[in-house]
Order: sequence, then C-alpha cells, then structure tokens
Amino acid sequence: MLYIGSHVGFKKDTQLLGSLEEAISYGSNTFMFYTGAPQNTIRSNIEDGLTLKALMKMKEINFDYSKVVVHAPYIINLANPDKEKYNFSIRFLQEEINRCEQLGIKYLVLHPGSHVGEGIQAGIDNIVKGLNIIFSNVNTDVKILLETMAGKGTEVGSKLEEIKAIIDNCQYKDNLGVCLDTCHLHDSGYDMKNFSFFLDQFDKLIGINKIGCVHINDSKNEQSTHKDRHENIGFGKIGFNNLINIIYNEKLNDIPKILETPYVDKIYPPYKYEIEMIKAKKFDENLLEKIKNKTK
Ligand code: FE
Ligand code: FE
Ligand code: ZN
Repeated sequence: MLYIGSHVGFKKDTQLLGSLEEAISYGSNTFMFYTGAPQNTIRSNIEDGLTLKALMKMKEINFDYSKVVVHAPYIINLANPDKEKYNFSIRFLQEEINRCEQLGIKYLVLHPGSHVGEGIQAGIDNIVKGLNIIFSNVNTDVKILLETMAGKGTEVGSKLEEIKAIIDNCQYKDNLGVCLDTCHLHDSGYDMKNFSFFLDQFDKLIGINKIGCVHINDSKNEQSTHKDRHENIGFGKIGFNNLINIIYNEKLNDIPKILETPYVDKIYPPYKYEIEMIKAKKFDENLLEKIKNKTK
C-alpha cells in the first residue's frame, strides 16, 4: 500500500492533533513532524491529552500511526568534534527519543552529522560513539533512521558506504535504520533515473529491510552537485516519471514516503496538490500556478 504525506508543523498548543489535522487536509495517510522548530532545539512539553485526542481521531479514521515519523532538528551534530556541542547533541537526542516514546512514535530521522574539517573517518567514529552512548543510556525500541545526505560542506552520509560503516560499527544495530532522500541521493551522485539499480546496490551493501522512510523531493540542481536544494515534484532535475517510479517501487511498498518540497512563493504549501498529482501519476506543468491561484 502507498503511504504518502509531507512534513507538517507541530505547534505548542495543538501538538500531534494539529499535525494530524494538517496532514489530513493534504489528503495524506502519513506524515513527518519535528517536535518543535526544525532549526532550533527549543522544545515544549508533550501534552498527553492532545496526543490521546490525536490517537483517538486516527483510530476513528483508520489512520496508521505506525507509519508516522519524527525528524530531529538540523543543528544536532553527532560528528562534531567540539566536546560541548557533541555532548549537547547526545543529550538532546536522548530527550528526543523520550519524546518519541511518550508520543508512541517508532522512527526518528537524523542527519548523521558534519565532521567540520576533521575528515569523514573521524566523523563516522564520533557518530558511532555518540549512538552507542545514547542507546546504552536509553532502553528503547525507537529506531534512528540515518538520512542519506547530499554531501554539502562536510556532511557525513552522502555515500552508502558511510551509512553502512556507522551501522556496522554501532553496538545497537537493531536501533538503526536508513531514511532515503531522493534529492540528497541525486545531489550526492546516485542516478535516480535508474532507481532499481540503486536499490540493488543498497540491498547488497546495507539491506533493503533497513529502509524505514523515503523523503520524496525533486532537486533544483544537476546530479552530483552536492547542493541540497529541494524542488517541487516534477519541476526539478530528477523529474516526475523518475520520482513516480521510486514512489511506486514494489520493494518500497508500505514504507512511508514524505514530501519535503518547498512552499510555492514561500507561502503556499504544495502538498495537497502534489499528492493528488502523485496519485493520478500524471504531471501537471501548471501545478505551481494553480496552487497560487487556489490558495489565494
Ligand atoms: Fe532531513
Ligand atoms: Fe530529507
Ligand atoms: Zn535536504
């Protein structure tokens, strides 16, 4: 079955209930959220009353909560050699796992980190050490999904071998999985036109069963440019048909697909319309214009 949704907000006063309602308004049957703002680590307490209301609503409408994922904030960096920032990242991630537990969430997407000049191997070592500390401190079945990165700056995790090295060297392999991001893969050099070849490669190296989530984004830039600039579905350099092939790939059936495409003109959320277009499997070159007119 196809599980498709987008990232949605998580506001202090509506929390999971607000996130769910936003997802429903886009016609989604899954979603991803940050437990606060994506770019900072200010987090308010989870209110169980709101969580309960959201869970009841999901039960009512047969919404499969097991497909919903949380994304850790961008600034968390387990590869950072700076002791203070490193320790903060570990502490924050432990708390984030606890928030996931409290919310009943099973998957937490994480950018592996940036080595800020220390080199890939030092970065990998720091990440592995950090993950070992985290999972030795919190006993959980929450899985951290390491996201494949575009290779911007000193990002670790733009090559499958790097993701594999993190998983292989961590003592808590069962707590780790992978989140594919189509824009990042394309930008890092993987050919999304030949996705079944990529998936075979992934399977041989890491194992398809490790994939817990797929971020579906087009890219503003050519393959291998390491830019990480997302584009609306079908309007970028990956293209509509290639993204449709990925979304409907049999081997990724039942894995949640999450759109992180940009708002049109920075104000109009595109997700309802992109999801309609994905379900119709037919590209609409006027989609962005339509979104502006309909939401005005
Ligand atoms: Fe991400
Ligand atoms: Fe992503
Ligand atoms: Zn990105």
